[in-house]
Amino acid sequence: MSTTDDLIKDSARYLANTYARFPVVLVRGRGVRLWDSDGKEYLDFAAGIAVDVLGHCHPKVVEAIKAQAEALLHVSNLYHIERQIRLAQALCEHSFADKVFFCNSGAEANEAAIKLARRYAKVRWGPDRYEIVCMRDSFHGRTMATLTATGQEKHQRGFEPLLPGFKHIPFNDLRAAEQAIDSRTCAVLVEPIQGEGGVRVPDDDYLPALRQLCSDRDVLLMLDEVQTGMGRTGRLFAYEHWGIEPDVMTLAKALGGGLPIGAMLAKEEVASAFVPGSHASTFGGSPFITAAALAALTAIVEERLPQRAAKVGAYFLGRLRELVQRYPYAKEARGKGLILALELAVPAKPIVDRCLQLGLLILTAGDQVLRFVPPLIIGEAEVDEALSILDQALPEQPR
Ligand SMILES: *Cc1c(COP(=O)(O)O)cnc(C)c1O
Repeated sequence: MSTTDDLIKDSARYLANTYARFPVVLVRGRGVRLWDSDGKEYLDFAAGIAVDVLGHCHPKVVEAIKAQAEALLHVSNLYHIERQIRLAQALCEHSFADKVFFCNSGAEANEAAIKLARRYAKVRWGPDRYEIVCMRDSFHGRTMATLTATGQEKHQRGFEPLLPGFKHIPFNDLRAAEQAIDSRTCAVLVEPIQGEGGVRVPDDDYLPALRQLCSDRDVLLMLDEVQTGMGRTGRLFAYEHWGIEPDVMTLAKALGGGLPIGAMLAKEEVASAFVPGSHASTFGGSPFITAAALAALTAIVEERLPQRAAKVGAYFLGRLRELVQRYPYAKEARGKGLILALELAVPAKPIVDRCLQLGLLILTAGDQVLRFVPPLIIGEAEVDEALSILDQALPEQPR
């Protein structure tokens, strides 16, 4: 057996240097708890970056994985796959969508959406409408197209030239959208709540007005719900909060109950721009992954986790607001359901490090923002426990 120190040395030696990792090796998880290779326990309010909505090793997901592993792991999309069909059906029945394309990640789901928008516009309007309007401070993934769509220079630097046909405007600014959409625009791509960009919730009238604008100008509204989807915001999909429907939506993160899967959902009329050969993914929607995802979706719905996220999230947000009252450098608590943030006037990373030492996993979203995306199965007791650790981790100087 290697010691933890040996593992961390070999990690640096053999793995591409793409992550600033915490000096911890996580080896076991159950519900909202994780354990490292030294046996230390953690309360998990990071959830694998908004992935583990059901907590770790949910029995229904584990059971589905075991059964499917013994039946069939992979066949290609040249054949029909029963679990894939049933997962697509369930997603359509629970959303605005008529058709689903499966892939393996959030970036790929957004790639599929970008390709669908371009192709739909070509088929419907001719060759000149290909531009996608995106938001500043957005995050859509790390492939070349989704990196171009992402409105953060720090992720793009060094990878130029980016793709043509993308334009960026401020988020939550309807005037900017009105001015940006022109005869070349085929779609607007937007996160209903910006996740990586700092947990930004738009004004109540923004998304309904943007929906109307897109309809008036015959432009597709494409929602990136990779982080907000699957119950996290207090509804199964975030768009439900505003009483609107997109034309296209992308999912990933929480969709697979911890396994990698992405999906692009669309209305029939738009989806019909894809025909056999238009787009594909070797692993997309494999029997194994879709069995897990279907079990996860079923559990999310049966256990009423969106409702739980709304209720526990409201309590959590209230407790974060208490911290804003108590700590002069705590500027604002914000979010919806169980995607929450505490914006600070001091660097967030040392506080995340301190929380880790004290047994709580949390995230940042920008240099001065703490982000909380716990499993949706938490209760008020876990919120209190996390808050008491955070209270110890925050630098002194209460008011
Ligand atoms: C994480 C994320 C992505 C990228 O997902 P990957 O699975 O890492 O490719 C895209 N959009 C949003 C909103 C995300 O939060």
